[in-house]
Amino acid sequence: MTTPDNPLLFNTSTELPVFADIKPGHILPALEEVLNDNRAEIEALSDQDKPSWASLMAPLEALEERLQRTWGPVGNLNAVCDSDELRPVYQKGIMLVSAYQSELAQNEVLYTAIKKLRDSESFKALSSEKKQVIEHALRDFRLSGAELNPDDKARFKAIQMRLAELGTSFEQHLLDATRAYRLHIEDEVELAGLPDSIKQAAAQRAAEESSQGWMFTLDAPSYIPFMQHAEGRDLRRQMYTAYVTRASEGALDNTSLINEILKLRSEAAALLSFDNYGAYSLATKTAKGSDEVTEFLRELAEKSHPVAEKEVAELEDFVCRELGLDTLEAWDIAFAAEKLRQKKFDFSQEDLKPYFPEGLVLNGMFETVKKLYGLSIKERKDINVWHKDVHYFDILNRDGEKIAGFYLDAYARPHKRGGAWMDECIIRWKKPNGSLQLPVAYLVCNFASPMGDTPALWTFDEVLTLFHEFGHGLHHMLTHMETLGVSGIRGVPWDAVELPSQFMENYCWEREVLDSFARHYQTDEVLPAELYEKMYAAKNFHAGMQMLRQVEFSLFDFLLHTEFDPAGDITVQEFLDEVRREVAVITPPAFNKFQNSFSHIFAGGYAAGYYSYKWAEVLSADAYATFEEAGIFDPETAESFHSNILSIGGSRDIMQAFEKFRGRRPTVDALLRHSGLNK
Ligand code: ZN
Repeated sequence: MTTPDNPLLFNTSTELPVFADIKPGHILPALEEVLNDNRAEIEALSDQDKPSWASLMAPLEALEERLQRTWGPVGNLNAVCDSDELRPVYQKGIMLVSAYQSELAQNEVLYTAIKKLRDSESFKALSSEKKQVIEHALRDFRLSGAELNPDDKARFKAIQMRLAELGTSFEQHLLDATRAYRLHIEDEVELAGLPDSIKQAAAQRAAEESSQGWMFTLDAPSYIPFMQHAEGRDLRRQMYTAYVTRASEGALDNTSLINEILKLRSEAAALLSFDNYGAYSLATKTAKGSDEVTEFLRELAEKSHPVAEKEVAELEDFVCRELGLDTLEAWDIAFAAEKLRQKKFDFSQEDLKPYFPEGLVLNGMFETVKKLYGLSIKERKDINVWHKDVHYFDILNRDGEKIAGFYLDAYARPHKRGGAWMDECIIRWKKPNGSLQLPVAYLVCNFASPMGDTPALWTFDEVLTLFHEFGHGLHHMLTHMETLGVSGIRGVPWDAVELPSQFMENYCWEREVLDSFARHYQTDEVLPAELYEKMYAAKNFHAGMQMLRQVEFSLFDFLLHTEFDPAGDITVQEFLDEVRREVAVITPPAFNKFQNSFSHIFAGGYAAGYYSYKWAEVLSADAYATFEEAGIFDPETAESFHSNILSIGGSRDIMQAFEKFRGRRPTVDALLRHSGLNK
């Protein structure tokens, strides 16, 4: 059956999705049609005596692309415009897609055909990127149970389907729990300490819900400033309690989901003869073994501990002497830290915001990549988007040729998943007909929006986040690869995927870069030297505590998937407490159910891989050190970074590529130095 007017059915053209035309009713018919067609074609393709790239892999790529073009826009819509109509359809779609993928991953006939190709003479003549795609495919077949006996294979498949379902439920419980909570304040006295911009946003939120007064939510742009500035200690306690107990009670409780997820992951790993799920996870990462990961994390913890202890002692002393509190409670930390930061550095995030209006920040970021890679970025007004606040840009190279494009959806709004991310819309790919398809990215953030006549003013953290996500976008968009499976971020190990993104953040700290864009939105004054110096001095404020927090999350995640026994006597909570005893300098209250909202590892792809952030940070800090040595816009270094790292996608071993760029293996020194932890 064909549905000619269905906007989700592309014929792998380079057209962008027409978001305005996509209705929930289109999704399942389009998806079913694509999946059925793909199944039939794969069956026909797999039956070959002498498979070659052209007869087997190229058509497979085309099928993969067709699914991406149908399902990708739906995933994007689900993340940025969730609705009651879309949700059940998306859930059903997830089930169909994961069933298909798991079927594909266990398709023995196809596996045999690809093995035949790998063992053939024609394999030797293929480009390294094509060879890598084939090697990855064979590895992934094994990891998906292709070599299991029929019973185990069926069980493995059932586990994968159930895990996909559990991950989606985990995420939706969290979203619902976040959305369900409101702190409604009607007496202005209770707003003491809050900056005007935060009050205005809270008033606007209340008005949108036809309420009087001020409304605070658990979304980051509301929650974080509230915890940093609200003087009402009891209100902070209420907000904190609501935040850290999300998805831990009643119908939205994630506790049993966590247990089931861990049991199933452990069982799946055992079916494939791995010692545990951690070992399974490392099979696709740059880290060579569990010990390498835990030793790395413990080295960071150990080197950060002395600084972190000093930070806590100073904070405790400060709350006693200056804030008149006898204890430092969990809901005081952000508040006290902000007060201490203001005292030490005499400025707040709010003081910086007027210097970071949206338009100038974007220009500054675009200028940065122009200097580095000769790129020009031009907005397009003729592209169909999913919301009026979304913008679309073309990227042109030095010769003025269009090489990529991206959507930017910057503002927080209801029905949009929290956080910030980059996702692939279209992947760079040389199509079977020989034409080149250009990459397109989704960049999504949850930043403050314009308020009346005032442009959107962003905190410095938001500016860092934007550069970070743009770094992911560049990895996707500046690739030179032409083979789908290793193009951009495809085929890049999880623990290296944050290298290009964290790398970009460094530029936000350079005076030269800030001067090019940070200007007061009313007076056009550049960021005053005094403010910059304070900001720079404050850069590593509480770096020790933050490092330990990340190590705590990473170690908890990794040990949970290597040493924890989901069928044993110790609960996840007790296990987390144990990790905290080893690593943390501040112990959260017993009611803190952080794990119930740890969606990175229970609903995202970071299971036994959260350490990747720090791992990649070591690589990015060390890579940036090359620029510090040669000049931050040094053309040769930029060219080398682009050709050795940014452009190679998943076609080569990242550690080898890094060594080629750096001239040696990475060390933790630059990260510790950048974080002020090398003392
Ligand atoms: Zn990232």
